[in-house]
Amino acid sequence: MSLITACYVYDNTKKCFLTFDDGPSVNTDEILDILKQYDVKATFFVNGRTQDIYLPMYRRIVEEGHTLGMHSYSHRYNEIYSSVEAFSGDMEKLQEFLYDTTGVWSRFYRFPGGSSNQVSRVPMQELADYLEGENIYYLDWNVSCGDATGKRLRPQQIADNVTDYVSNYNTAVVLLHDAPDKTATVEALPLIIEELQKM
Ligand code: ZN
Repeated sequence: MSLITACYVYDNTKKCFLTFDDGPSVNTDEILDILKQYDVKATFFVNGRTQDIYLPMYRRIVEEGHTLGMHSYSHRYNEIYSSVEAFSGDMEKLQEFLYDTTGVWSRFYRFPGGSSNQVSRVPMQELADYLEGENIYYLDWNVSCGDATGKRLRPQQIADNVTDYVSNYNTAVVLLHDAPDKTATVEALPLIIEELQKM
């Protein structure tokens, strides 16, 4: 964890990592604008999106000091979790794409569905071992903002799901989503940061 510099330290000792999965998306620029406004760094676990509109977003993540992490190229569970070869091929494709796009060789990974997902047809330990062998550090989360549940939460509910729980951990890793339909998460972000700043 200490490898990721993009964390928010509050209360002198407690750390909070804000992490965004599934981007880039139409919301990425606004998320980056908010982070910039509050001078907060985050980690973006991204997918592979080659369309022209997305390329500057990958670069902005890097240029503005955030951590660029990987979240699989395709995000298709049935493909990436079908074999170690399929998983590694997908990971390498994303790593190279990110290097070509940003000049950064990402060393961080978040498994789609998390490292203890029940979907993979390969034992997750094998995939974890593979990443370790590649010197890639994977990171789960311990606080979820709840924006991926079926229910549409209001921004304040999303913020409360974060700020009510982060202080339970000396190192909180908060799961948020950067996806087209997650506009409530974008609206929740200033509420989350302002609440963290008060702690
Ligand atoms: Zn995801």
